[in-house]
Amino acid sequence: MKTADIMGVRFHAVTLNEAVDYAMNRIHMKKKGYIVTPNPEIVYLTLDDPAFRSLINGAALVLPDGIGIIYAAKILGKALFGRVTGIDFADLLMHRLAQEGLRLFLLGAKPGVAELAAENLQKKHPGLIISGCKDGYFQDSQEAVDAINAAGGAEVVFVCLGAPKQEHFMAEQLDKLDASLLCGLGGSLDVFAGTVKRAPAIFSKLGLEWFYRLYKEPWRFRRMLKLPLFFLLAVKKRFSIGQKEGDS
Ligand code: UDP
Repeated sequence: MKTADIMGVRFHAVTLNEAVDYAMNRIHMKKKGYIVTPNPEIVYLTLDDPAFRSLINGAALVLPDGIGIIYAAKILGKALFGRVTGIDFADLLMHRLAQEGLRLFLLGAKPGVAELAAENLQKKHPGLIISGCKDGYFQDSQEAVDAINAAGGAEVVFVCLGAPKQEHFMAEQLDKLDASLLCGLGGSLDVFAGTVKRAPAIFSKLGLEWFYRLYKEPWRFRRMLKLPLFFLLAVKKRFSIGQKEGDS
């Protein structure tokens, strides 16, 4: 599979359909792995944390979530097909799981949210089997592992604990879990439950989902300050690559 290196993070250059086909193939082969959907904030986190970067790069699929990654790819002259957001990926994957009678477990968010999400998701994807739910505020990871395995496991687990907690959980607990594929999906359960609204289509069309989120959740301001730094770094990197190429 083609990849594009964006500041040390190896993104897969895939369309939404290719990503889901690939995930389903792995599920059919019972191949264990996890999927990550880094946005610029997460790529920024990896810059000073090589262990976290290896965790991200160790994923079976690294999907470019967020228009910021696509802009950075353009700045750096790297080819990515476009955005594959965690929510869109999850939606198509659930459609396929429902068709094939495969099981899903929902892990994360505040108590009660995953159950609400499960109800909505089963309405949206008739036939979807949800083997269980567990909130994301556990003291010890083993508690979550036990909850998933006690439910009889699942082919897929949505791990929605926010970054970098969910990536650590997936890489560290994968072997202990009775599951093939773990998907790190941040705040998606809140969106599926309807407790947080997804940006209206016009915002995502214009690449302004981040702006809508900032307007709705202004406390994200501090985190989002990393965005301009991220782009500055991309420009700096492009410039230094250009210079090196010019030198030789
Ligand atoms: N969360 C959790 N356990 C924690 C911390 C956070 O389950 O210890 C949940 C939180 O309730 C929210 C999600 O993780 O549902 C993080 O959402 P956010 O939108 O901040 O994630 P992002 O995708 O931006 O990392």
